[in-house]
Amino acid sequence: MKLWKKRSEQEIEQYIDEALSQNIDYKNRISLGVPASKLDNLVFNDQAGFLKEAPFLRSIVQNPNHIGCHTLSESEMFFKGTQNIEREVMELLAVDVFQAAAGQTDGYVATGGTEANLQAIWMYRNYFIQECQATHKEIVILASEDTHYSVVKGANLMYIDYIKVPVDDETRAILEPELDTIIATAKNNGKKYFIVLNNVGTTMFGSVDNPDVFVRLLNKHNLPFKMHLDAAFGGFIYPISQPENNTNFSNEHVSSITLDAHKMLQAPYGTGIFLARKGLMQYVFTKEASYVHGMDITLSGSRSGANAIAIWMILSAYGPYGWYEKINTLLYRTSWVCKQLNEMGVRYFRHPSMNIITIRAAHIPKSLAGTYGLVPDAHDDSVRWYKIVVMDHVEVEQLQPFLEDLHKHLQLSQG
Ligand SMILES: *Cc1c(COP(=O)(O)O)cnc(C)c1O
Repeated sequence: MKLWKKRSEQEIEQYIDEALSQNIDYKNRISLGVPASKLDNLVFNDQAGFLKEAPFLRSIVQNPNHIGCHTLSESEMFFKGTQNIEREVMELLAVDVFQAAAGQTDGYVATGGTEANLQAIWMYRNYFIQECQATHKEIVILASEDTHYSVVKGANLMYIDYIKVPVDDETRAILEPELDTIIATAKNNGKKYFIVLNNVGTTMFGSVDNPDVFVRLLNKHNLPFKMHLDAAFGGFIYPISQPENNTNFSNEHVSSITLDAHKMLQAPYGTGIFLARKGLMQYVFTKEASYVHGMDITLSGSRSGANAIAIWMILSAYGPYGWYEKINTLLYRTSWVCKQLNEMGVRYFRHPSMNIITIRAAHIPKSLAGTYGLVPDAHDDSVRWYKIVVMDHVEVEQLQPFLEDLHKHLQLSQG
């Protein structure tokens, strides 16, 4: 870890204060033209005593606007203090977690994984249009059937096709012969440019796609492609639990990555992360955004700088080793559940480096799923799987009674 450091509560507080003090101070600076403001004073009293020791809440009240992308070109100077923190977070994640070389990536805090995935699809669609004179009809998205539905939104919004790639029912791995056929058929049908969405932790299974499979087959058919990693769920686990992997920037085929800080990192909602190799974000530059200083090349316009601060604070509070320990506790707990399921003969999927257990619905009566809040893969009669996501709040104390009830049910149903 080159950039990720653990800091004490006091150090964190000082750091945020320093950053906030470099932002615009509406009280003491004349700023007639800035439509931004600190939060309404009648409702959000900035003198409230409890704000003193709460740097995150203080940054919410001060309300920095992080519009734009701060890792390239110049940004609005009014909020330069906290924009620095966002820039730091992006570089830390790209370099320390996703093995990028220093200074080689851009990134910003998006509203969530959906926006970050849309940003990627938008960027690559424009790339193929601008660099290859592609038409919309010639561009297509490839992603596994376990991919998050935001890919469907992306295809719809960007007006390009999406082809679903089937996976093995047991291993959730992409079926290579089927992908081979899909690519050949797409090529025959006039598709020339491919956008690959490769999962690093699918929402339902926690499965990790192997990017080499896509690369091998697209190369075999001589087709140009761009690859995005959807690590919305897995981004704060998989690179930690499985540091030897091919799903990061050390893989030359990986061009961009989505992470969600509001999932595993437990940041407030509105903290998706988009990272991309330098030289790509320019493809979504909006020339008309000329009144914004710097470049507005993000899907969202105005957005709260407090979100970047939240991410920075959580990462700094744990430090890399603290985070590693937390992840390992969750994985240990996950393995503990799996061991009991094995003993009961229950069939499930679990990626060994992830904290999701997805159980075949045949073992689970609906009532049990309801009582314990298991999440189904469908909300009608076609439920095939139920998942448990072992997070902080899912402790052995809650898992134990679930396993006992499941055991009872299985004994009864086996007569
Ligand atoms: C949750 C999730 C998304 C969407 O993220 P939001 O933050 O809900 O927009 C995308 N991809 C994966 C794999 C996810 O788990």
